[in-house]
Amino acid sequence: MLKKLQNEIPAANWITEDTEPSLLEPCADVILPLTPKDEKIMKRMIDWVKASQNKVFNANNILTEAIGIAAPQIGENIKMYYILLPIPNKDETITYYEHALINPKIIGRSKQIAYLKKGEGCLSVTNHPHEGLVPRSYKINVTGYDYLKKKKENLTVRGYEAIVFQHEQDHLEGKLFYHHINKDNPWLNDEKWIMI
Ligand SMILES: [Zn+2]
Repeated sequence: MLKKLQNEIPAANWITEDTEPSLLEPCADVILPLTPKDEKIMKRMIDWVKASQNKVFNANNILTEAIGIAAPQIGENIKMYYILLPIPNKDETITYYEHALINPKIIGRSKQIAYLKKGEGCLSVTNHPHEGLVPRSYKINVTGYDYLKKKKENLTVRGYEAIVFQHEQDHLEGKLFYHHINKDNPWLNDEKWIMI
């Protein structure tokens, strides 16, 4: 059974592709408390990501498995994103890092750079591959109102989790991961950078 916060069944066609100009535009601040329309966007994001990770619902991979989604990716250019990051533990259990942030801001960054070994992917980028290394800050400080916890959060995140946050935060500024890839040498690297 798929537990949902809203009525509709998450579908692949909810996702805005990067061929849409709206994905390259900055998002507007969200007014709190949420309007019913904005709350529905948040619920759709949460339901979509959870459905994509649900092994039963998504057994046939009708949805691309996602760990994060930003509001402009489901058609609303407002500052909200949802992250559900499963990290396996040594004892085969999984710890989930879940954030449903409204008006998030990155307020601090490490000088240390990190990147994902295989590069990044995005739900909205399906038509053409963009291979290459995406340099990000290894550690960031994020602030924002968490829809699920119903309070303002001040987070310090590192490594893979920090990369996911920066990817989603970029969406709120109309940026995509491949905008960070070096055009002349996509796998350009620096020995001081941390590979994840
Ligand atoms: Zn993305």
